[in-house]
Amino acid sequence: MKSQSMERSIQRNRAISRICEVAGCGKSVHQFGAYCFSHHKRRMFYGHAEATPLLRGELRPYRKAVDEFLSANADHPAVTAAREFFEILLETSQTAGAGRIKSSQKLGHHLAFAKREGVQGVQLLAEALTVAALAEFQPHRFSNDQHRHFVLARRILQVAPLCRRGVRDGKPVYVYVALGPTILRELSNLIHGRMAQFLTVAGQEVVKRLRLGPAIQVSEPIHSKFSPKQQVSPTP
Ligand SMILES: [Zn+2]
Repeated sequence: MKSQSMERSIQRNRAISRICEVAGCGKSVHQFGAYCFSHHKRRMFYGHAEATPLLRGELRPYRKAVDEFLSANADHPAVTAAREFFEILLETSQTAGAGRIKSSQKLGHHLAFAKREGVQGVQLLAEALTVAALAEFQPHRFSNDQHRHFVLARRILQVAPLCRRGVRDGKPVYVYVALGPTILRELSNLIHGRMAQFLTVAGQEVVKRLRLGPAIQVSEPIHSKFSPKQQVSPTP
């Protein structure tokens, strides 16, 4: 249901024939927003109206370097703590009961499904670090922080994509459950709230590896403020 202020914005947009804010677009805005429907959708999906989707191949070289980095530094306290963060995230996630899932339960539901599928904390850490390494090496690949955060959260949730039964042309099919901006924001806030600095510093270490080969081993604590003791729960 639209609020009164939303309705007022829609009326105002119509009255002034407001045009999409993306330069050169020229289409009328969608409802109360500042963008046309296609740029609005892009913003909801990727975190920025002009973001372009990240291709699997773009991440591949970083993922390889991340896997090497994680196995070379498996016992590093900061790496251990980051791995534990994701393990706890999976452990404490609860499947929502039958019926309609509340939006506050969606993230937990997705992660509980991933846990049931046998997903390990280290896999989620590797996904997060892969995006962090790409961001260090090609900072302009992301339109803004939110684009990067959405990509990171989506990569993590797609390690075990949640499907639901649907029907197409009268036949039962499985369709991926859409990952909207709320769940992506919730997960990326959770991760960045606990390990933003770790991801930056560890991402830089991975990039060094890309440049200099596999000889680097991090011997100093990656970030002394990174707290390994904090318990984390994905559900509020
Ligand atoms: Zn547009």
